[in-house]
This record gives sequence, C-alpha cells and structure tokens, in this order.
Amino acid sequence: MMDAPLTLTYTDAQLRRQLAIATRLLNAETILDYSGHISVRAPGRDALFIQHGTDPRSDVVPERMLLVDFDGHVLEGAPGKPPIELPIHTEILKARPDVQAVLHCHMELAFLFTMMDGMQLLPMRARATRWQSGIPTHADPSHIKYPAQGKALAATLGPHHAALIRSHGLVLVAESVPALAVDAIHFQENAHAQMQVLQAGCRPVPLTPAEIEQIVAHEVRDYHIGKLWRYYIQKARRSGDLPPGWDAED
Ligand SMILES: [Zn+2]
Repeated sequence: MMDAPLTLTYTDAQLRRQLAIATRLLNAETILDYSGHISVRAPGRDALFIQHGTDPRSDVVPERMLLVDFDGHVLEGAPGKPPIELPIHTEILKARPDVQAVLHCHMELAFLFTMMDGMQLLPMRARATRWQSGIPTHADPSHIKYPAQGKALAATLGPHHAALIRSHGLVLVAESVPALAVDAIHFQENAHAQMQVLQAGCRPVPLTPAEIEQIVAHEVRDYHIGKLWRYYIQKARRSGDLPPGWDAED
C-alpha cells in the first residue's frame, strides 16, 4: 500500500539544503561513505536534486547540488556529473509518484541478509513497522547504470518502502528528505538488532502482525521525524560534521 502523496511546500533552496544536511548526517552515522546518495524530487518538474557523484559525502554543500531531469540531463548546478547509479533515482521517482526522496547506499549490515541462506531481514524493533509490507530483495547485484536496470529495481521495490539489492546495497523511499534520513537510521538499527540476535545464537522473533498493529495505532510519524531530524542535526553540529548555522528549520 502506498502513502498518500504529501503536498510539499519546500523551495528549491530548502531542498538543496535538506539534501546536504541529510547526506552529512548519514555519512556521520556511517550509512553513507565514499559512495551512496540521496535524491529529492524537484517540485512541479520531472527532475530531481542530487549531489555530484565524486563529491565527498562529508563535505557536500547545497550550492553544488545538481538539478537533473528524468532522462539524466543536468539542468542546473556546478559543473560535474551526477552519481553513476542515477537511474536508481530517476526510475523509482518515475514509478512512484507518492515518493519524494530516495536513498541508495551500501549498508553492509543490511545487505548481509541477502547472503544468508533461509534468513530474511525482519521487523525486529518498534520503528521497523515502517517496513511491515515487506522488504523485497533485488536479485541482480550489478551496479545500476542504465535506465532498464533502474526500472527493474523499481519493479522489485513495487509499493514497498525499502528493497535490498543482493550483495550490493539497498534503496529506501520516503515522503521527504528528513523522513528518509530518519528511516535510514532506523533501518540500520533494525538490521543491527537482528544481527545481534543471530550472533547470540538465537532464532530471531520479529514483531507479530498484532504487535505491529498496536505500535502503528500510537505512532505519530511527522512528530517523530521532526524530533529525530533536530536531534541528529544538533549531534552533527557538535561533532563538526555540520557547519555552524546550518539550521533544521531553514
Ligand atoms: Zn550501489
């Protein structure tokens, strides 16, 4: 089931800023590293904002974000190229009008579950209710360089909020950049919890449908996202991962 589309009122400048903040936060949380990227849909256009492929994730700035159309043409931004795996973003945004922001990363803790015989990544922690519809695995481990590959990945993702890519990484989708960043942190926490259960030699006992229903009944997603977005911004500011003056509310 898909979320209802949100009516976003962010300006291009705000979206560029959110992308830069989220990229630095996720780099600080070791979810992004020398590769991986976030995109956000450009309001009212068949285009997205994304960083340069070779810019260090630790140092991205709003002014260098590229505006790229769904055919891969750079429309605005500092000279340079988008990431090679751009078709992940263009094809998912084309296929999913309910999605505003896409993360692709190589989170080992998550894709290790594509290497385990008979084991799947399961909703273990309370915030993993986000993925209650399932986390499909894309069977092709190749880097996604061409639109046909991106389309195939979008088909694997289907209506879900996450998909693993066999021996390679994952995609997450959300209704905004802050929501995507918070989801990514919870995705990693959930994979970590399941791995710890396995490493303890125990059988994972995921949340049951009844437990998920109980949790979801009391969740206020927007409140939670706002709270964690501010928390991680403050944490990154204190550690020096974000420059002073980069504000959550800008
Ligand atoms: Zn990749």
